[in-house]
Amino acid sequence: MARFGLAVRATVALLAAALVGTAPARGEPGGGSPPVALETPAPPTRALPPVIRSGPAGCHGVALTFDLCPVVKGSGWDAALVDLLRERQVPATFFASGRWIAGHEAETKMLLAMPFFEMETHGDRHRHLSRLDVAAQRVEVTKPVALLAKRYGRRATLVRAPFGEFDDRTRAVVANAGLRLVQWSVVSGDPDPRISAARMLRGLRDNVRDGSIVVFHANGKGKRTREVVEALLDRVLPERGLAPLTVRDLLKCDGGHAS
Ligand SMILES: [Zn+2]
Repeated sequence: MARFGLAVRATVALLAAALVGTAPARGEPGGGSPPVALETPAPPTRALPPVIRSGPAGCHGVALTFDLCPVVKGSGWDAALVDLLRERQVPATFFASGRWIAGHEAETKMLLAMPFFEMETHGDRHRHLSRLDVAAQRVEVTKPVALLAKRYGRRATLVRAPFGEFDDRTRAVVANAGLRLVQWSVVSGDPDPRISAARMLRGLRDNVRDGSIVVFHANGKGKRTREVVEALLDRVLPERGLAPLTVRDLLKCDGGHAS
């Protein structure tokens, strides 16, 4: 997956922005030279809503999010993980692809029936959005939303891009459909079988903070996801005074724990 690469690219972009910010402003008074006219900025393109990667600062909550990407082999379902979340009534957000929803009717119904779970979408066929033209991106983004509405009466409003890959056309497609793009601020690394539970937990300990959105998988690809989530719930989050929230509640949280 390209998540680490994206994080690096984002960091590079931030560094570049920071460096630009340190350059002396043109046209500043002083120095005896005549003021220089500022360059005329390019006309603004239609403003795109921001991509959501975390909750507001000062919110002592985190969103545990679980992608339901389609799988070729296996059940596509981590029953032990979802049982843990359900038994403890842990608020959690599931981002399901259309193909996954179509093949998991009973599981979809169960997730939708839990008031502390939130079900949102994750593309239809889990395609690389930025490789598609706008029309195909629109289909990929909106088809699972329509499926949840038509078959289950659920109005999903949040979208997570498969592979974390999207471009400005995706952002426009998502905004025009009345949806919001939600990525993450913390990667658990759970689909990688080479990462031990202890290492995953160390990474989470180092990175989880107020307002974090953490990405896991609930499609059975994360062999250690249940173990790691349990340790997070038992130890890491209580130690930090952080409460698990759905993404929607995290975005509404303005300090303290949302109830
Ligand atoms: Zn996925």
